[in-house]
Amino acid sequence: MTQNKTYAGNGKIWTIGTILKWTQEYFSAKGIDSPRLDAEVLLSYLLGKERIYLYVHFDEPLQENELIKFRELVKKRAARIPVAYLTGQKEFMGMPFKVNRHVLVPRPETELLVECAIERLPSEQTAVFADIGTGSGAIAISLVKLRKNLHGYAVDISAEAIAAAQENAGILHVEDKIEFLQGDLLQPLRDIPDREPLAAIVANPPYIPLADMDTLEPEVRAYEPADALTDGADGLNFYRRLLEESKELLVADGFLACEIGIKQAASVKKIAAENAWGKIEILKDLAGIERVVVLWKQK
Ligand code: SAM
Ligand code: GLN
Repeated sequence: MTQNKTYAGNGKIWTIGTILKWTQEYFSAKGIDSPRLDAEVLLSYLLGKERIYLYVHFDEPLQENELIKFRELVKKRAARIPVAYLTGQKEFMGMPFKVNRHVLVPRPETELLVECAIERLPSEQTAVFADIGTGSGAIAISLVKLRKNLHGYAVDISAEAIAAAQENAGILHVEDKIEFLQGDLLQPLRDIPDREPLAAIVANPPYIPLADMDTLEPEVRAYEPADALTDGADGLNFYRRLLEESKELLVADGFLACEIGIKQAASVKKIAAENAWGKIEILKDLAGIERVVVLWKQK
């Protein structure tokens, strides 16, 4: 039945190998950064298989209905919709997180914030943390997955983000370890009567200066939620607020750990000094960029 195995409209037989090659070249011409990887991720998603399947079945012809659907995905990707929004999923800390256009796609550099918090949180006795601006829930869920002694609060101002984070917690079986709260920054925590002091507050807040928004990749600028990316000012407003307000919620030897953007370390250090924080640590990501700041309440 070659009839069923031809690419819609042009009569040619397309195999997994030839469609990948064509798509890679097409994406490349459209200025997409990782054309081969994106082609593979989208095709394996469409076929409902792991990427390795594509390599083992290179010469397998695709069905016409598969080609039609794949062509739709390719068109959307060429219009710079992020791959994660097309597949509805992004891997973070080795776990699959569902994402949609209401949440930032978790970034690999944010794994540094998770690792740094885990290394500094108490490893034995029970400890409570808060993840401020939780988005997909990537940070809070990773923390409770990595350590059984932890439980946390996850806060976001966006109701859609809270819904997405809650769904991810359910899928990853940690819904009983995280309390999800909708509201502005630390306010929902202050509203909890008799809340235990927190061992840590972690946050990847919106930190892109408004003036830099038009320098972002089209994927980010056009499709990710602006409220997740920028504070609408100089990129430092959330640090000003967090550094001023966090200490009162922390235990005596607690810390605040935040992801920061390029060249923000010096400004954040200055804000920390104004708010009398103790020891400050700055950690670099794999690209050598100062990416995480840890502020100790007392140390
Ligand atoms: N934590 C997620 C991650 O690292 O992938 C998402 C981080 S995203 C950069 C920032 C998040 O902060 C968004 O989900 C946004 O909705 C949330 N946010 C923005 N303003 C906020 C506010 N005033 N209070 C609480 N959350 C806020
Ligand atoms: N790292 C994100 C970016 O690409 C920004 C995330 C944030 O503002 N916290 O652009």
